[in-house]
Amino acid sequence: MQGKIALEEHFAIPETLGDSRGYFPDRVWSEIKSRVLDIQDRRLREMDEQGIAMMLLSLNAPAVQAIPDKARAAEIARKANDYLSEQVRKRPDRFQGLAALPMQDPDGATRELERCVKELGFRGALVNGFSQVGDAETVVHYDLPQYRPFWAMAERLDVPFYLHPRNPVPRDAKIYDGHGWLMGPIWAFAHETAVHALRLMGSGLFDEHPRLNIVLGHLGENLPYAMWRIDNANGWIEHRHNYPARKPMRDYFCTNFHITTSGNFHTQALIDAMLVLGADRIMFSVDWPFENIDHAARWFDACPISEPDRAKIGRENAVKLFKLA
Ligand code: MN
Repeated sequence: MQGKIALEEHFAIPETLGDSRGYFPDRVWSEIKSRVLDIQDRRLREMDEQGIAMMLLSLNAPAVQAIPDKARAAEIARKANDYLSEQVRKRPDRFQGLAALPMQDPDGATRELERCVKELGFRGALVNGFSQVGDAETVVHYDLPQYRPFWAMAERLDVPFYLHPRNPVPRDAKIYDGHGWLMGPIWAFAHETAVHALRLMGSGLFDEHPRLNIVLGHLGENLPYAMWRIDNANGWIEHRHNYPARKPMRDYFCTNFHITTSGNFHTQALIDAMLVLGADRIMFSVDWPFENIDHAARWFDACPISEPDRAKIGRENAVKLFKLA
């Protein structure tokens, strides 16, 4: 398919490059490093080869979210966003920006989101899960009450918020002791991000701000497959539910959430997601440079879905949601 749009596509600045280092053995790091630092050269060539018209670019992970010092987090976010803005200005027909945000400081994150959208023309934000605040062991998730003014701003600006994975801090990763291979994209990323998404849904955030749009990668971090059981076990059938939000989780999932194919190029999982969410809430993505553009594009271009659904998932849904027309 020509004209695809991909929206979980990362770059690094020198200050955040090291955040990606630990995920890769030495033998592949030089390759990943050159990919993540490049924007205007090889990335564009591979996009051309695989029919990708546009990428929405975002900073690598965990980057800003893993800087406990609020002032430093704000400084790195601003620096990354200014750099991204420069890069987008070179090729606005091929690249658009998603803001990195210093969520350690709810007011600062709100101001940076507003700056990025109004002054830099960014199409939304991509945040790497929870933030560490003050010290490495203190973490905040964004269902907490101090984030409601931030969410009000995101709703007012009408820009999507991409909740991207990161690994849990050591205190919250005890279950993986002795099984480090389960960290990262193999399992821990999806678990951490799905729990965060469920916290947002259960907190009542979407009752207060019903027009918020949250994007999850990796075909929904396993949530489509789990959604029926979550609601069923929450007692919606016979008893009152036991969280503050007013509706079953599937209502929020199908109203306030969108998912992408980033790093999950598997037809059975896509079909399940289409049955749960519908083709209007799924968007093509790669997760470059950590996944290959050709792997994502060749799978998506050939997977057995209808051509109208391929057009929606490959391009049209992203044009609408991120106002790319
Ligand atoms: Mn990613």
